Formats: sequence, structure tokens, C-alpha cells
Amino acid sequence: KEFKLKRPWLEALFKKETPTVKAVDDVSFEIKRGETLGIVGESGSGKTTMGRSILRLIEPTSGKIIFDGYDLLGLSKNNLRKARKDFQIIFQDPMASLNPYMKIGKIVSHPLEIHNIGSKTEQKERVLSIFEKVNLIPAKEFFNRYPKQLSGGQRQRVVIARALITNPKFIVADEPTAMLDVSVRSQILKLMIDIKEEFGLTYLFITHDLASAKYICDRIGVMYLGKIVEMANTYDLFTNPLHPYTQILMSAVPIPDPNIKRKKLMPKGEIPSATKIPKGCRFHPRCPFAKDICKEQEPKLKDVGGRFVACHLIDES
Ligand code: SF4
Repeated sequence: KEFKLKRPWLEALFKKETPTVKAVDDVSFEIKRGETLGIVGESGSGKTTMGRSILRLIEPTSGKIIFDGYDLLGLSKNNLRKARKDFQIIFQDPMASLNPYMKIGKIVSHPLEIHNIGSKTEQKERVLSIFEKVNLIPAKEFFNRYPKQLSGGQRQRVVIARALITNPKFIVADEPTAMLDVSVRSQILKLMIDIKEEFGLTYLFITHDLASAKYICDRIGVMYLGKIVEMANTYDLFTNPLHPYTQILMSAVPIPDPNIKRKKLMPKGEIPSATKIPKGCRFHPRCPFAKDICKEQEPKLKDVGGRFVACHLIDES
């Protein structure tokens, strides 16, 4: 039944069309078993949406996500629930991702209950052994603590323990150190490297912190406004960034040598809204090297000697 809203501004609000946002657009890449692939970029670049879409925590509208030979988008809810034990996520904010009313032993054993893995005694033993691996020692004491009784670093160790408990193959780590003190960050990164070796893990490591990415990643993809603009192995990306946006990001990384001076490049303005994607190259309104073609044609991601770059300038060089 139709009715008229009394306040005109309310009417206008309801009539307003919701803008479509393509937070991740036509992105395609592979992650090899045992590899750590980093995804870097500013806030609003789409990296978190992409990480969550891969795990179907956000449902992608189209595409394929092939994991171990099967397409995750083709799985029914029931089969997806079963498959979830093979892939896990480490969230950015450990406090927000842990139930404050549950003891951490219970939080970490919960995935085992969901997947019906082991008896109660076996589940507890597994939790205690994982606590030791992530350095929550003495494990028996930590088992009965609540999240609020832990430091930020210890909480993130709990989140990592929960991600490991089902013995997964693949972990999306979404800014796992962003909420931690600088002194604790390196400990958590070191822990992630250690457990990767021990558990044979593969990581997608999402971050805006280039120093962390350099420390932990084998390869890095740079995202800008929903697209990957450059992807290369970590060494090449840091020593010879090709895309202007990557060059700008790299110029902001401090060099721990006072004798080496590097010119800091600045992009023009702010990153545009994902509802107003610029025509042509998405970076052109901010790019210091933009040419006429950049305003009209979107550059494709091209193979440039084993690395991938999306920029019209690369054709010229
Ligand atoms: Fe800059 Fe043009 Fe390259 Fe885009 S395509 S990054 S605007 S030079």
C-alpha cells in the first residue's frame, strides 16, 4: 500500500538510489602452495574486501575462486562449512574478533566442535599444544583466562591459535599487526613466519604497512581502487618499482641509512570514492606522469619480464 512520507527530506532519502560500488574489479592471480603473497594499498583500495571474498565471508557477485582444485563459489553452504577448516582468517582487531564472555580455551576449541574434530579431551589437548606453539605459556593457565585479561599481543596470539586449530592449508591475514604496538608487531610477524614453516601454511597477507610486507612476503600485489596495478616478487618491487603508484608508496618507506637520500613522491589529492571511479587509468587524477591516453584508456595488467604492471608508460620504456 502506498503512503506518503511527511518529511520531504526523508522521502528524498528513500528515493535515492544506492550507488553500485565495485570494490574489487576484474582481479586475477594465483597463490602458490607455501607462498606468502602480500596485498598492499591505501584504505579504500579493496584489499580487505578481496581477502574476505576469497573466503566467501563477503559473497562475490561473479568470478571464480579455485582452492585446491575446486571452485569455492560453486560450493553449497553445507560443503562450504566443511571446507572452511582448510582456510582461516586472522582479523585486524583481536579484541573485536574474540567473544569477551568466553574463556580463550573455549574460543580456540570452538572450531573443533563445529567441525566435530576429536573428543572433548582430545580437543583440550590440541588447544593446549597450539597455545604452546603460539607462546601462550603456561598453556593451562591461559586456557581459563578471558580476552580482557590479556595484552594486545597475547590476544592476537589467541586469534592465530584459533586460526591454526583446524590445521588449515591457507590463511588470510588481514592487517594482523595494525592494532598492535610497534614493539609487539615484529614478534607477531616472526611467529607467523615460524608457524608457516611448521604447519606448511600458505598466506595472503593484507597490509598497508610496507615494512611488514617486505619482511614477510615472497611476492606483493599493489592494489589501487579495486584493481591490482603491479605484482612482482618482493625484492623487485622494493628495488625497482615500475608503476607510478608503487613508486609513490615506496618513496615513503624510510631507509635506515642517513647517507642515502630519497626524493619523496606525493600523489595529487586523495584517493577518489569507489562510487566515482575515474575513466581511463584509475590513478590518472593523482598521477604525476599522466598523459592524454591515461584519461581515456584503462591500462591492462601486462607481463613485463615475469612481473605484472598496468601502466601506459611501460609500453614506452
Ligand atoms: Fe600514470 Fe598513466 Fe601510468 Fe596511469 S597509465 S599510472 S596515469 S602514467
